[in-house]
Amino acid sequence: MALELEARISEVIQRTYNVKSVRLKIDSVIDFKAGQFLSVTLLNNPALKRYLSISSSPTEGAYLEFTKRITASDFSKALDELKPEDNVRIQYPMGKFTLGESREKLVFLSGGIGITPLRSMAKFVVDKNLGTDIVLVYANRSIKDIVFKEDFDAMQKAYQKLRVIHVLCEPDPSFKCLPGLINAQLIKSEIKDYLERKFYLCGPPPMVEAMRKMLAEELSLAKDNIITENFQGY
Ligand SMILES: Cc1cc2nc3c(=O)[nH]c(=O)nc-3n(C[C@H](O)[C@H](O)[C@H](O)COP(=O)(O)OP(=O)(O)OC[C@H]3O[C@@H](n4cnc5c(N)ncnc54)[C@H](O)[C@@H]3O)c2cc1C
Repeated sequence: MALELEARISEVIQRTYNVKSVRLKIDSVIDFKAGQFLSVTLLNNPALKRYLSISSSPTEGAYLEFTKRITASDFSKALDELKPEDNVRIQYPMGKFTLGESREKLVFLSGGIGITPLRSMAKFVVDKNLGTDIVLVYANRSIKDIVFKEDFDAMQKAYQKLRVIHVLCEPDPSFKCLPGLINAQLIKSEIKDYLERKFYLCGPPPMVEAMRKMLAEELSLAKDNIITENFQGY
């Protein structure tokens, strides 16, 4: 059952030039699963409500975090003005885009802001030292668009079974990455055991649909091994 409450902002973190994380201080964070989402209503304009993934992990108990790409929308503009001690109304937890019970080998495929629920899941696996083997393939336009870059660097150092592959349309010669877009050839050459893995896809609906089609039709992945979350609205 989703709970509705008013929560106080404890911190606002500028993640990239156009992405912000907002941390909410919650006295007792109710159980949620890594990968679930919440709704956020802004009190300075109650008509403004959006669904946003929880980018923190249940292991980061003292706060709940969501992370939003700041666009030209009225919601984004109002969110951009929020500061610590302001309140927002939230409803959570919602959604079924979560880790399974078993410790399967996984691939996370994402682009841009679609990383948020996958960051939560990766952090959960790393903090709990679950032993789950994860390859994250994360596509962005350029290095300055990578959200949670330092965070994933730290997670890779702390946990040997997490491998992060950055894919950039505009590669930077000083940064380890693959050029272009995520495609079947890239998956085949970088993830040899891809047929043994469960794929989690998250991002704007056209990207998720293109990835799902590529996995099913070009790589013959079973339907049950493709789990998706669509960021309706992008
Ligand atoms: C389950 C789920 C989880 C999600 N998780 C996340 C998440 O973690 N992070 C996240 O960022 N999003 C997430 N989304 C998407 C989110 O809910 C919004 O749809 C999305 O962020 C766009 O909202 P917006 O207010 O920025 O833009 P919208 O108002 O929805 O507008 C969309 C586009 O129109 C343009 N636009 C809108 N108003 C104006 C204006 N007045 N002038 C000019 N241009 C305008 C904007 O440039 C914007 O790109 C999620 C969605 C779902 C369903």
